[in-house]
Order: sequence, then C-alpha cells, then structure tokens
Amino acid sequence: MNDAYLRLIERLKHRHLIGSVQGLLGWDEQVNLPPQSADFRAEQMATIAGLEHAAASDGRIGEALAQLEAAIDDLDSDQQIVVREARKDFDRVTKLPAEFVEEKARHSSAAYHAWTKARTDREFEPYAPFIAKHLELAKREADYQGWGDRPYDYAIELHDPGFSAEVIDGLFAELKAGLIPLVQKIDAAAAAQSSQSPLRGFPVDAQREFLEEVTAKLGFDYGRGRIDVSPHPFCEGSGTDVRMTTRFQEDEPLDSLFSSIHETGHGLYEQGLPMADHATALGQHAGMAMHESQSRMWENQVCRSRAFWQHFEPRFRELFGGQVKGVSSDELYREINAVRPTLIRVDSDEVHYNLHIILRFELEKKLFSGELAVADIPTAWNDGCEELLGCRPQHDGEGVLQDVHWSGGAFGYFPSYCLGNMIAAQNWNAVRQEMPDLEGDFAKGEFGRLLEWLRRNVHQQGKRLSALDRVEVVTKAPLSPQPLLTYLAERYGSLY
Ligand SMILES: [Zn+2]
Repeated sequence: MNDAYLRLIERLKHRHLIGSVQGLLGWDEQVNLPPQSADFRAEQMATIAGLEHAAASDGRIGEALAQLEAAIDDLDSDQQIVVREARKDFDRVTKLPAEFVEEKARHSSAAYHAWTKARTDREFEPYAPFIAKHLELAKREADYQGWGDRPYDYAIELHDPGFSAEVIDGLFAELKAGLIPLVQKIDAAAAAQSSQSPLRGFPVDAQREFLEEVTAKLGFDYGRGRIDVSPHPFCEGSGTDVRMTTRFQEDEPLDSLFSSIHETGHGLYEQGLPMADHATALGQHAGMAMHESQSRMWENQVCRSRAFWQHFEPRFRELFGGQVKGVSSDELYREINAVRPTLIRVDSDEVHYNLHIILRFELEKKLFSGELAVADIPTAWNDGCEELLGCRPQHDGEGVLQDVHWSGGAFGYFPSYCLGNMIAAQNWNAVRQEMPDLEGDFAKGEFGRLLEWLRRNVHQQGKRLSALDRVEVVTKAPLSPQPLLTYLAERYGSLY
C-alpha cells in the first residue's frame, strides 16, 4: 500500500488511542471519581486533551495528507474518504491553539462539578458563570474556524455535519405543526386515565439482571463492553471497549430499563462499526443524529412494542412477580407506553419528547444570537416549558439544571435527539418494507435480522456519507418529520 497512506493511518491510530484514554477518564469521572479528586481529574483531563490535540495536529499528518492529495486518483474510493475526512479534521484541529483546547477541557471538568452541585442545591446562579464561559469559548472556537458569523451553526456542525440551524428550523417547524394537535388529543385522552404508575419497589439487583439479559439478547457484546451506574446515563468508547451507564430507582424500573436499552442502541452502533477502521472515517459514526437514531429505534420502535413484550413479559413476571401481581399484560403495556407530561426530558414519553428538544433548540439559538442573556435562561426556560408542555418548573432542578450538556459546552447537541427520532422513524419504515414480518422475530426474542439490517445499512458504512445523505440512500427519500408523526399517531392513537 501507498507509503504516505500507511504513515497517515499510523498517526490516526496514535491519535485515536489517546482520544480513547481521554474518553475512559471522562467515563471514570462520572462513574467512580472520589469527591475530593475533582481538581486533580480536571488537570489530568486538560493534560490528556493537550496530548490528543498535539497528536491530532502532528505535522506528519499534514505532510502525508499533502502527498496523498497530490495523487488522489491513485487511491481507491474508501481511501479517498479517509483522506477527505482526515483533512477536514486536521484543518479543524490545527486552527485551534493548544492553550485553547486545554482551557476548554479544564473548564468542562470544573463546570461539570459546578453543575452537579447546582442541581443538588437547585440553584442556577452559581452555575451561570460556567455556562457564560462555555458560550464565550464556543464563540471563540467558531471564530478560530472561520465560522465567527455563524457560531451556532458551527456548534451544530461539530455534532452533525451537514445540518444547520436553518435546516433544523425547517424540519422542527413541520414537526411542531403536526405534533401540537397530536399531543393535545393524546393529553386529553390521557388525563382521563390514571396518572400514577402501579410499579413500585423493584429490587435493584433483579432490575440489573433483567436489563443485562435484555441488552445481551438485543446483541450487545458484553465481552467488549460493560454497564455501570452514573447520575446521567451515557455511552462512551468505541467498539473495542464500550462503556454504558444507567441509574436505578426501586420505584422507576422502566426508567433504568429503557435508559439502558437506549444506551445499548448507541453501544450496538459502536460495536458494529468496522473494527479494523476505528481510527479512520471508515470506522467512525456519521454524527450524533445518526447515533441517536440507533438508540431511539431500539428503545422505542423495538422495545416498547407489543411483540417485544410478548417475549419478555414472562421473564419480567418471573423476576418481579410480587411487584406486578394484579397488573394485567394490557396494563403493563400501557404503562410502558404511558403518556404523562413531565418536566424532565429523560423521563419524557415519546409523544412529548420532541417538544423538550424544540425548547432547548430555541433557547440555544437565542443564546448564540445574544437575544437571551445567560442570567435570564431560567425564566425563558420556564416560560417555554409552560408554552410547549403546559407545565412550569417549580425550581431550576426540574428546569434548566436537569441536563448535563451545557456543563460540557455541548451546545448544538440537543437537536441531534429529535433528528435522531426522525431518522429512526424513517429507517424503521424502510426496514419494515423490506421485512414486513419483522415484529414476529421480536415476539420470539430474536433481533438478529434487524441488527444485521442496521449493520449493513448504517454501522458498516462508517462516515462515508453524512447522516442526511445516508438517510436518503437508505430510505429513498430526504429526511422528513412525517414518518415520525405517522409512527406516533399509530402507536399512541391505538392507546389513547
Ligand atoms: Zn442517546
């Protein structure tokens, strides 16, 4: 193989390894870190971020790229993609001063701990300067990249290449127009039903046993991954070592189950990316919207279906006989798909979920344009919540402080969840057209055909195409909110 290409791959692998250590330290910070060790960890994180930045901006990458680009036709199409994406990445990284990268990592670590304290204390004010600083860093970063006039678009581009605030605006407007009447209709019907879950007192050990059985059955390889506990569930790592987290509450057994299934969807994507290519675009995911489409499809279309529960209900009753005594199969299924407006995004049912995202997207746009000052976020949040969801937070713990994202400077990330829901619904239509009897598999506890479809159409494709282009190739239509609206109307129309 081309000598310059081999040198490029060697450098990309080196960078990928350092990045994976950084990820592991970040995972450890949220899962295991002793309370007095936070400052030390912030220094560790800043140091490793500096090393990763140095590896990513190594002059040898630039030299290899220049040589390869001068004779690009000598490379096959996959190699050309590797070069194309490595160039984008190299240009992005080398535009950032190392001091800036370290400053951002150090600040993220400090802001994370400020956020956990603020959330516990339900006090936004002490946390506000951390968001303001992140906002300033995000704008400075966009400036370095030449996106100074469109800093929010740059934040979106970082997570979801090809999307912009304008594209998302169009998709969300159409979604919102269809969603509001649907939500009103379902809310009215739901109000007539019990607002209390009948599920109480589920022992944590048995919850863990059940969710590990389920997620292994979906195809997650526990030989190359594990699940632990953290305050905010997440998934970290690449296919050779995937770290997922969940959280347990005795009276919320479905929360830990479905958040674990959600993270498993992310884990399956990572484990399905071509193993030999994790350091290059061929073995890397196609953005966070595509990532969320994986987690949301497993969580919602698959595991909240009747067919799925046909198979798993007997085992659920075996483990939790006492807790579900007197709860019929029908009641259990309704509970799994219960629609109850909540202030907390991660607890939200599917019907209201996208409204939580639209709220955050609108706020982020205004934060970046300067229309909204950081100090005024709580009021704007609460007003938006009341308008979109019909309920108002009583304190910031159930309002602006509920999400971890801004503490890491992850602006522009929230839209990925909603875009992921759209992609999931559109892909789901395509899968079922190809395999109309797919849910019959679920009823038998078999998920291999779906996983194989996702492997072939999404996972194995790496970053060859953007999420928008991939969806169009797979579903033969541009991304649209209509499949999601149809799916929601069908599933919840039959329940409410
Ligand atoms: Zn997710």
